[in-house]
Formats: sequence, structure tokens, C-alpha cells
Amino acid sequence: ASARVVVVGGGFGGATAARYLRRYSAGLKVTLIEPSEVFATCPFSNLYLAGLRDWDSITHRYDGLRAAGIEVVHAYAEGVDAGAKTVTLSNGAVLGYDRLVLSPGIDIKWGALEGYDEAAAQLAPHAWKAGLQTKLLKAQLEAMEDGGTFVMSITDGAFRCPPGPYERASMVAHYFKQHKPKSKILLLDSKPNFSKQGLFQQGWQALYGEMIEWVGLDDDGQVVRVDAAARTVETVFGTSHKADVLNIVPPQQAGAIARAAGVTSDTGWVPVQGQTFEAAQAAGIYVVGDATIAAPMPKSGFCANAQGKVAAAAIIADLAGQEPVAASYVNTCYSLVGPDWGISVAGVYYFDGEKLAEREGAGGVSPIGADAAFRRAEAQYGAGWYASISADIWG
Ligand code: FAD
Repeated sequence: ASARVVVVGGGFGGATAARYLRRYSAGLKVTLIEPSEVFATCPFSNLYLAGLRDWDSITHRYDGLRAAGIEVVHAYAEGVDAGAKTVTLSNGAVLGYDRLVLSPGIDIKWGALEGYDEAAAQLAPHAWKAGLQTKLLKAQLEAMEDGGTFVMSITDGAFRCPPGPYERASMVAHYFKQHKPKSKILLLDSKPNFSKQGLFQQGWQALYGEMIEWVGLDDDGQVVRVDAAARTVETVFGTSHKADVLNIVPPQQAGAIARAAGVTSDTGWVPVQGQTFEAAQAAGIYVVGDATIAAPMPKSGFCANAQGKVAAAAIIADLAGQEPVAASYVNTCYSLVGPDWGISVAGVYYFDGEKLAEREGAGGVSPIGADAAFRRAEAQYGAGWYASISADIWG
């Protein structure tokens, strides 16, 4: 009988792995487990908040993967028995596998930030998983009076999409500039600095003047307590800030199924072998995407896609009794500061024999002194990136 690979999670990493497993080996039986029939991407969800994209344009269905010969099951994976090589689903099915791929993304670490639990997220959305949370945040921004304050609290440590909070601030500023120009944006950051900081701040000044205020760790930016009902947050030194719309980017960890499978470390994330993305703690279980510890690679959709391809190739080699080939990974994170103002950071990564490392001199960030035509071109490259990676994964 042909070998079977079960893939859990139909997002950036998992859907990529499923597609490339079939592409590399047409005889392989590939089953993709994903609860949602429609996947909404976090990439470009900030553009949806800005009114630059409609909802349908950031959602994808699974017909393309089915047409590629992948069995797609809309259920939730509840447990993994690594010894018996089975996955138990919410619909009661128990699936046997020869190799397993997990790409469950992140879970919010409820309660790690005092006052921020699931009920609080209904009042002060995180919108860090795209879907109802994103729609809730947009509805709140639309209901806010002109002259109101949008407050965002940003976690430190490992989190999904390092430039994401700052792109969100930019896109909310764009929306305010069009519709609520007296409004303010306050970013309370638990970090002393952030991704593409100089580029973002230059763009903010040029496009939005004084609308966005960023308060970093060194200036008492770290939020330690949330009162979602009152829409207030309190910082380390006891300063209280009142919001009209409150957005929390909270502490995160690997998706629950990675923890259930026993592949996470005490960090809450999954250590992997950098050549294959096989979990360090369980043979035959490959983990890709945000759930992994893959630094210096960031937690991005682009990286999840690259890792999904590497894991697929490694599984094919392993099933054939061959050694994995040397892996190279690439990432570009585009961010939109304004509709015609794109910036990016790019990197190339490889396994140096011990750990994942960044290829010196192969990446970099957009030049700080670029002109309007350059920024406009980068905004277009970002749109092109979104279209091509979506087609690569779900198309
Ligand atoms: P996901 O894409 O989240 O997929 C996980 C999937 O697994 C989900 O569909 C979920 O339903 C499913 N799942 C979870 N548990 C189970 C289970 N037990 N059983 C079955 N299914 C399960 N990245 C970029 O590269 N470029 C960007 O411009 C960008 N912008 C972003 C903007 C924002 C605001 C945010 C929050 C993130 C952004 N990202 C961006 C990051 C990107 O969204 C993530 O890095 C990417 O989604 C990670 O892929 P993943 O496969 O690990 O997780």
C-alpha cells in the first residue's frame, strides 16, 4: 500500500506541505485536517482594516488542494499517539499515518497578561488570528467617534509576525486619516525597539504626522494589566491608559495539538531539526510554521511556506530511505505603511550543521532614503507576493 502522510492545519505551513508532498510524489496518500472550510489570512488583514481590501480577497478555500489529489477533512485534530502513529479527530475518526506534519500556528496564552482571557478578547480583540476577531476590531474602529484613541498593547518574546503590529498601526492611521482625522494611535510596546523601526517611523511622520505615538519598554510602554470592560491598560510603572478601541497583541505559544503531541519544550514552542523540520522530541512528526523555534527565521507566512516545502522534501526522502538534501529558506516580510508606501525586510537562512543561521549579506531592509517611486514599487511587490503565495498554497 502507498504511504500516508497526515497534515494538521490548512494554513500557510500545512497547506504548503500537503501540496508539495503530492507534487513530489504523486502516489502518496495525503490527508489535510483543517476545521475551517474557508481560511482567512493574517497577511493583508491589516489592509482589510484600512478598507483597502475586502474580506473575500483575503480568504481561500480548499478546492484547489482537493483538485491536486489531497484528501481534505474539515475537523479538528484532538490528539496524537506517536507510538501507535495515529491522530484522533473531533469527528471521532482515528487516522493512521506513516509520517505526520503539524502546522497549527499559534494559540493565545490566555491569562499570561493579567486580565486578558477569552472573555476579554470579545471586548478588546487581539485579531492575531484572522477571522471573527479581525471583523470585531474593524467594527469597533468603524463605531469609534472621530477624536478617539486607538490603543495597541504589544507583547515581547516570540510572537507571530514581528512587523505586524506596526503595519496594523499604519493601516489604522490610513483609515483614521480618511474618516476620523482627529483620532490618535498609541502603541504601548513591551520591547525597546521593533522590526523595521526607522522605516516605519519615517513613513508615519511623512504620511500621518503626529497621529501615531510609539512608547517602548524604556519609556514605560510595557502593559502588565488589562481591564477590557473599562478599556484601560496599566503599565509596569502603574500608568493607566484609556482607550476607545483597545487591541491586545498578547503572549503566544504553539497551537494546542503540538502540545498534545508532546513536541513542545518548556518555552511553549517546538524545537526542530533545522535540516528537515522534524520535531526534536518525536521521530516521524514534522512541525512547520509559527509553532516552531526557527530563529533567526521570523514567524511569517513566507517562512511557514518555505519550511513546508523543506519538510515535504525531507519526508519524501525519508520514506525512500534517503538522506535529506541540504535546505535553504528564504523570507521577505512586506509591510504597507500607506497605500503607495511599501517597505520590506528579507533574509536567506540555512542549516549550518548545528542550528539554523542567516546567510550573511543575502538579505536586508529597504533603503531609508528611497523615493516615492521606490516605495510605490515595494507596495506593488507586496501585492504580487500575496497573489503568488496564495496561488502556490491554495490555488
Ligand atoms: P496558520 O497560517 O495560522 O495556520 C494554522 C492552521 O491550523 C489554521 O488554519 C488552524 O485552523 C489550523 N489548526 C490549528 N489547530 C488545529 C488542529 N488541532 N486541527 C486541525 N487544524 C488546526 N506573514 C507574512 O509572511 N507576510 C505578512 O504580510 C504577514 N502579515 C501578518 C499580519 C498580521 C496582522 C498577522 C497576525 C500575521 C501576519 N503574518 C504575515 C504571519 C502569518 O500569518 C503567520 O506566520 C502564518 O500564518 C503561519 O503559518 P502557520 O501554518 O504556522 O499557521
